[in-house]
Order: sequence, then structure tokens, then C-alpha cells
Amino acid sequence: MLVFLQKVIDVILPPRCLLCGKIVADQNGLCQECFDKIKFISTPYCLKCGNPLPTGNSVQSCSLCVSDNKNPFRMQRSRVYYDDASRPLIVDFKFHDKTENAEFLTRWLLTAGHDIWQQGADILIPVPVHASRLRERKFNQAALLCKELSKLTQIQANYTVLQKTKKTKPQVECDSRTRVRNLKNAFSVNNIEELKDKRVVLIDDVMTTGSTLKECANVLLKAGVKSVDALTVARVIKNS
Ligand SMILES: [Zn+2]
Ligand SMILES: [Zn+2]
Repeated sequence: MLVFLQKVIDVILPPRCLLCGKIVADQNGLCQECFDKIKFISTPYCLKCGNPLPTGNSVQSCSLCVSDNKNPFRMQRSRVYYDDASRPLIVDFKFHDKTENAEFLTRWLLTAGHDIWQQGADILIPVPVHASRLRERKFNQAALLCKELSKLTQIQANYTVLQKTKKTKPQVECDSRTRVRNLKNAFSVNNIEELKDKRVVLIDDVMTTGSTLKECANVLLKAGVKSVDALTVARVIKNS
């Protein structure tokens, strides 16, 4: 019955490309032209931070991860480069209430998280936003992705254990020195018992500087979780 109904709806309101609006065959998809412009992160990539490595590279970690022993993550993964091609999908979703993009973006999260699901994970946690920001935007885009991903993976999601308790400036507006100060004590964990020895996956739409995810990871590790992964739909890749 549901399949039939969907077919009727497709005739009246045919599915459209989420980027350009052209009629496409699939519900929640992109047309071939828009799809071809998306830059996916594929192998080889650094097994730790997930950043792409030059083609033909046989090493498993990038030079940064080899020397950085303060990286709090078990691993970090993203599906696509955050660039002119992918940006409208995220911006429409986050700022223009195009929540129908969530299902599509979650499929990218699911693919990007392949290594994480293989290693095992216990809880999905969205990067929280401050209550005042939530009032402006009406929803937390990371929480919405988390909810969809939880349905697909059957891994439980927790929306309350990690909270943003301080209003901060967007990290991109800070220079490298004020970035750390801006986020200091911005996040807190309640109900530590719920997190003890758990393998946590932090979910967000975009990783820009990575400092917000890092701060969340450090707070969670301090609270006693076993490991933290970061999973985002897109990420800013320098020199791309
Ligand atoms: Zn298109
Ligand atoms: Zn790396």
C-alpha cells in the first residue's frame, strides 16, 4: 500500500534533485550532473583523521597524525569535501529548514562511518548547540542527522548527556589563539554513569576547523568514555 501511494505521489509530485531541482528517478537523490560535481573522500585516506592521502600512497597515517599525540579521536571520518558543490545541500538543510535533505545526508554518514561500524560503537551523540541558538534555528541539524543514523544503524543516540552550556562565537570567526579560549568550558557532560566505558560517535554536518569536535571529545574522554570517533557529512579539506 505504501509503495503504491509513493508511486501515486511520484506521478503528481515527481522527485527532484536536491541541488538543482531537476526531476530525477529516485526519491531523495541528486541528478547525474550534480552528483558528478561532488568530491567524495575515498581511499587512500589517513586511517586516523580520515583526510585524503595522495593517490598511490601506501602509508596508513598522514604526517600530522604520526606526530600529533594529542589527537583525542579513535578515528575521524567524513563522506565529502565541503566545497561549492556540496555546500548548498548543507546550508539549505541547516539554515533554510530543508529538513528533507536529512535522509540523503544520513546515507552519506552511514557510508563514511564504514570503519567505525566495523570497529564497533555504542552511542551516537550529536554535537550540541546552545539553547539560545536552538531557539533561533528551531532544530539542531546534528541531532536530526543523529536520529536518522540511529534508525539505520540501530545504535542508540543520546541527545542530553552532552550539553553546550556556554554561548560561543563561530570558530571560523576566531584566530588560532582565541579559538581555544572561545571553546573553553563550553561543553559539559551530565549523567557520567551513562557514558562509562562506552564507544561514542560524535555526529555533525560539517567539520570546519575540527576544534569544536575536539573539545567535545576531550570533555567526553574526561567523563570516562572508552573512545570517541567523529563522523561528519562533509569536511573542509585544505589545499583542495
Ligand atoms: Zn541536480
Ligand atoms: Zn591523519
